[in-house]
Amino acid sequence: MEQGHKKPYSYAQQMTNNSTNENCFNYNGRLQSLIANSAQVFDLIVIGGGITGAGICLDASSRGLSTLLIEKNDFASGTSSRSTKLIHGGLRYLKSLEFGLVRTVGKERAILYKNAPHLIIPQNLILPIYKNGNFRKWQLRIALALYDFLAGVQKNEKMKILSVDEALVKEPLLKKNELQGAGIYSEYRTDDARLTLEIIKTSLNYGSFAYNYIEATNIRKENEKFIVSTKDYIYDKSFVFTAKQVVNATGPWTDDLRKINHLNSNQKICLSKGVHIVLKHKDFPLKKPVYFDALENRMCFAIPRNNCTYVGTTDTIYTNSNKQEPRATISDIQYIIDSINNSFKIPNKITPQNIISSWTGLRPLIHQKNKQTKELSRKDELIIDNNNMISIAGGKLTGYRIMAKKTTDLVCKKIGIDIKCQSQTIKLSSSNTITIENLSERKKNCMKKLFELSLTEKEAENLFHTYGHFTHDIIDLFQSNNYKNIIEAEALFCLKNESTYSLVDFFLRRTSKLHYSPEKINTQINLVLPIFSAYLKLTKEKEKKLLEELRNHQTILTKFQK
Ligand code: FAD
Repeated sequence: MEQGHKKPYSYAQQMTNNSTNENCFNYNGRLQSLIANSAQVFDLIVIGGGITGAGICLDASSRGLSTLLIEKNDFASGTSSRSTKLIHGGLRYLKSLEFGLVRTVGKERAILYKNAPHLIIPQNLILPIYKNGNFRKWQLRIALALYDFLAGVQKNEKMKILSVDEALVKEPLLKKNELQGAGIYSEYRTDDARLTLEIIKTSLNYGSFAYNYIEATNIRKENEKFIVSTKDYIYDKSFVFTAKQVVNATGPWTDDLRKINHLNSNQKICLSKGVHIVLKHKDFPLKKPVYFDALENRMCFAIPRNNCTYVGTTDTIYTNSNKQEPRATISDIQYIIDSINNSFKIPNKITPQNIISSWTGLRPLIHQKNKQTKELSRKDELIIDNNNMISIAGGKLTGYRIMAKKTTDLVCKKIGIDIKCQSQTIKLSSSNTITIENLSERKKNCMKKLFELSLTEKEAENLFHTYGHFTHDIIDLFQSNNYKNIIEAEALFCLKNESTYSLVDFFLRRTSKLHYSPEKINTQINLVLPIFSAYLKLTKEKEKKLLEELRNHQTILTKFQK
């Protein structure tokens, strides 16, 4: 059945019962849904379920294109769960005089905040000024004022320049020696993995189909259509899908996919590795997020979050073939620790033993001859291969919507339709009823209910910022199942609604508990595993495999390579 180009929603409504898209996120309906979809001709197949693929899937499906997204691992398991988790206003682009870019990302940030206010959270950052540091006071004053102007920063979030004493009141851990003051400026923080997932979930409302754990293994062209062979890792089965257009949004794997597409493709991507470490807040008791001068004249972020502070990042060229689980080395870790000890006055110096977790991501940067990774632009680029497959790579989490618009405009042109982008006004599903104006009232109501279930303030707040208005569904599951601990309801919610198949999906990308409260995981596994087992009908052997996978991940996050 070939679909025409109707108004948004038309495709979902025309689907047969077997292939309604609510089944693709549901273990019980997934197989049927995959079989039904292999008989369709889609307008677009998006390969890669990171932020880039997610954004394109939402943009295309909301324009009415029949869209399928496939992700070989879990959604956001690549770079999109390993960033600094900031929605930038583009301050760093001022250094390279890219004023247009500052304006664009500033505008973009405001759109994201409006569409997902529980997930995009304003955060003032402190930028300390040291003698011989990256900035002089007058330079910073001009840069931040320009930043506020270009990025359209709200009145109440505008920059301030602080004296030494004021800076030390705001952040007593700053080293006093040679401190000359500080700037305060506005950034927004997010949860990158949840943002990616929420965008994909929202695209389902527009009729898209999205599956994790299914890999594109071959692409060929036949009668002007793309034929994509895939391997599904949930059922261990192969499926073939057909589409008028394919977009390669595989980030660090961009060139690999271009190769399986049998193209004699030139190298377009260069990978740069970035490491973050997580410390207990009591070991690094930072009051405010700080953007500080790290060693070798680089800048790093230190960000308090939950009961932790995370710090990063490094920027080194990466040529290892293991892109799925890039590992932090002892020297990466030491660099971050030395930078912290050098810049902050901490009661006890940080050592590797203080690290409770870490993450290591690969920036898919556009390759330029004879340039170091630090010098490479973070701009995105569209690559069109000679069989017309479109690849999109580079860019930032922050610019995902603009990248998606640009890519989908091109897809529409290639398949000969003209429907305008509307993602600017699409609220993410978990923010459905939440607006900037009612955010604090909604949060208060939600937290009140959670206090009645004995959650602490931090736990309640965290749950609200994770699930937004779906927190109420979690409360309902808790009450209707007579659970003893909210994590049981969270697990069931994620299994039913968020295409969750493993303990790592749950503890790492749905909830971030592996990063911010790893000491609780052992107790929590005992509560969560029976729920996984019942829902996914796990055998004892499969249970053991999921546990082993979780243990391996705990090792990866805390043991570093020589
Ligand atoms: P990915 O997230 O890697 O997604 C690609 C996906 O494709 C993967 O999930 C992979 O499994 C899948 N895939 C690969 N091959 C196949 C196949 N054959 N079949 C099916 N699926 C396949 N940006 C910001 O805006 N703010 C920040 O604070 C920030 N900090 C960063 C810090 C670090 C250390 C790094 C590394 C990046 C940071 N970025 C930040 C940049 C941002 O994280 C990336 O630009 C973005 O996440 C890239 O997303 P992506 O979807 O292109 O790639």
